Amino acid sequence: MPTIRLKNVVKNYGGDTNAVENLDLTINDGDFMCLLGPSGCGKTTTVRMIAGLENITAGSIQIGDRMVDEPNAQTYVTPEQRDVGMVFQNYALWPHLSVADNVDYGLKLRKMSKTDRDARVGEITGKLSIAKYRDRYPSQLSGGQQQRVALARMLAVNPKLMLLDEPLSNLDSRLRLEMRAELKRIHAEFDATVVFVTHDQWEAMTLATHVAVMFEGVLQQVGSPMDIYDRP
Ligand code: ADP
Ligand code: ADP
Repeated sequence: MPTIRLKNVVKNYGGDTNAVENLDLTINDGDFMCLLGPSGCGKTTTVRMIAGLENITAGSIQIGDRMVDEPNAQTYVTPEQRDVGMVFQNYALWPHLSVADNVDYGLKLRKMSKTDRDARVGEITGKLSIAKYRDRYPSQLSGGQQQRVALARMLAVNPKLMLLDEPLSNLDSRLRLEMRAELKRIHAEFDATVVFVTHDQWEAMTLATHVAVMFEGVLQQVGSPMDIYDRP
């Protein structure tokens, strides 16, 4: 499991103000870290920089013992090489692939044998209770079911690090509660390190082992949910 170290990370998209300003944040092995703050405060930018989907403007990002982005040293490691899994707000499933093929996608890319892939798809769709939908297409599934497929697709490849960007925001409140419980279970069962973006304080408090509060690109405080709750 990796420790993620962001040191003095700056992101500027070209405007007058930085989207992320001098961010110093360490996410340890096994943490469930919630990035919390209002829309536009830099949460998505931060997870995209950790994933390697955005270059950083200054500073450095280290995952495990590997420096993955350091503009001054001209170091940059691609998303594929970072061994991270991501789930986005809109799930981003392949519309032309069945549930089973969506989950299989990353395994195929990793050139696993057909036998091993079938076993893995069976196991993971079973764990997330979507095995009975394996031949359906995403458009034939509810939001919650699509959410599970997106999680299954990520979990199938056993990423060391999971990045979740408001993955529950499109769900109704009952499903959101269910999926929160599921995420907690996954975090424990897969011994995962999770970075979870949310603007919902209650969601952060119920899920996180650690919370990082951001405002206008600046990290305000980091601590356990109780630390943050006690210092509003
Ligand atoms: P959050 O996830 O907290 O809503 P974002 O990281 O999406 O915040 O955005 C932080 C700031 O960066 C906002 O001011 C946003 O408008 C800006 N921003 C985000 N993505 C881009 C982009 N691709 N190009 C220009 N500005 C962007
Ligand atoms: P979030 O849900 O994090 O607030 P948004 O809906 O603001 O995200 O942004 C959705 C997409 O648009 C993201 O890919 C983000 O990088 C991009 N984006 C956000 N703000 C801007 C901006 N000011 N200029 C260009 N692209 C942006």
